Amino acid sequence: MRVYVESYGCSQNQGEGAAIARALDARGHPVVGSPDDADAAVLVTCGVIGPTEARMVRRWRTLADRMPRVVVTGCLVPLRTDLLTGPGRDRTTFVPIRAQASLPDLFDGWTRGSVVPPPSPILLQLGPPPATAEVILAQGCTSGCSYCFSRLARGSLTSVPSEEVAAGVAAAAARGAVEIRLTGLDTAAWGVDLAPEHRLPGLLRAVDRVAGEHRIRVGMMSPQSLAPIRDDYWDALRGPHFFRFLHLPLQSGSDRVLAEMRRGYDAATFEACTREARERFPGLHLATDVIVGFPGETLDDHRATEAVIDRVRPETVNVTRFSPRPGTPAARRAPLPPRVAKSRSRALTELRRRIARERMEERIGTDGPAWVVEHGPDGTAVARTASYLPVVLDRRPALGSIVPVAIVGARSTYLLGRVRDESF
Ligand code: SF4
Repeated sequence: MRVYVESYGCSQNQGEGAAIARALDARGHPVVGSPDDADAAVLVTCGVIGPTEARMVRRWRTLADRMPRVVVTGCLVPLRTDLLTGPGRDRTTFVPIRAQASLPDLFDGWTRGSVVPPPSPILLQLGPPPATAEVILAQGCTSGCSYCFSRLARGSLTSVPSEEVAAGVAAAAARGAVEIRLTGLDTAAWGVDLAPEHRLPGLLRAVDRVAGEHRIRVGMMSPQSLAPIRDDYWDALRGPHFFRFLHLPLQSGSDRVLAEMRRGYDAATFEACTREARERFPGLHLATDVIVGFPGETLDDHRATEAVIDRVRPETVNVTRFSPRPGTPAARRAPLPPRVAKSRSRALTELRRRIARERMEERIGTDGPAWVVEHGPDGTAVARTASYLPVVLDRRPALGSIVPVAIVGARSTYLLGRVRDESF
């Protein structure tokens, strides 16, 4: 059975989609690049905010209208499957995230007894092996943030054993990936459901032993989980395989709002972690997330968030307007007037753009290696610097290669680089 897999949302979801594709392919169900060439589609859904959820419903409808079989998995299953109504529902199978490993058996069952057409070599040509790969550290989360849909969708923390994570990194490196993303809802919480000796720094030391030229990006972590392990974490992050990158969500600069969000840390803890990281890793790329317009957020709360962002000056700030998710405590509270939320979101977006632009411009004139992860239009390519900043190159080295690059320009979300002729 030929399968088309489409994934949305965070890198954990993308990683799960990629794992589904690999598992089906290995079981003899070739993965194709378009629904037109497929006998079944797998839709890996995200429901982080209302507009994303609405987009998932529309996409499901399009696929279910034209395909004999659709599997829906990801964060909308089973909490929001009631939204998927219409004629395609009879042809749709819902598979919860934690049952994704059963998908090859499901597909085997569908094809058993039927004649499976031999896969066409054209359909099997999915392009070169991707230069990036996700390795999932854990399912679920230890926290209980009052607005979070993901925690409801994915449950409490279940960490993937260390040997399995290391094997995943080794397999990704062997496939030619040069950017390997360790993902989870809160990577710093890895291992707290296991024995006390299993914590993220030890895991990083284990994956750092996997030989190769690849670099590893450690994904999002909560300040609440990072704070107690941070000295050991900084030490482990010095390993040669890690991008100098920290994704630490702030969400709000107001301690009152953080408490209402049930985040389990205050703004001072966030700032202390970021200060230490910058001291230890010059050139660090700091990414953070902010939720604007949380119910009850006052102008002072908003200004507190702006003040923290202004002091910390992250290279990347993901600004999201609060969106009530059904089933969460925050959804029961009165929302801010849309006009207020919109104007605060605009103000923060302007601030983040200015800071990001300044941060990027500081890199002009520097040079160093870059890992080529994507081919762009007009003979360009996208690579990652050692600090995990995206750099658009003036030519197209092979995917997965490492090239010496001089930074010659900057935009607010990426750098411009010239590939140097010497080999690295
Ligand atoms: S965990 Fe959150 S961001 Fe990731 S797919 Fe689920 S809802 Fe979307």
